[in-house]
Amino acid sequence: MDREKVHKEYTNGEVTVVWQSGKCVHSAICFHGLPSVFDPRKKPWVTPEGADTKTIVEQVKRCPSGALSYYMNAKST
Ligand code: SF4
Repeated sequence: MDREKVHKEYTNGEVTVVWQSGKCVHSAICFHGLPSVFDPRKKPWVTPEGADTKTIVEQVKRCPSGALSYYMNAKST
């Protein structure tokens, strides 16, 4: 991961994970906790298809720096 400040969003259609690189302290909590979604060796490093929405939200809440956040996508109907 580079140190440039980027704001990225990744969605599974239901929840959108937001990552702000400038806040990330590289604590590794996200990819140790949920490696099927958070894997810095991959590009993109977040694959929201890798777990269900509830699991993703719980992991995002454990990010100590606030680099990860999320919002629920608006329902289309
Ligand atoms: S848990 Fe948060 S601070 Fe830690 S590596 Fe993941 S995004 Fe960065």
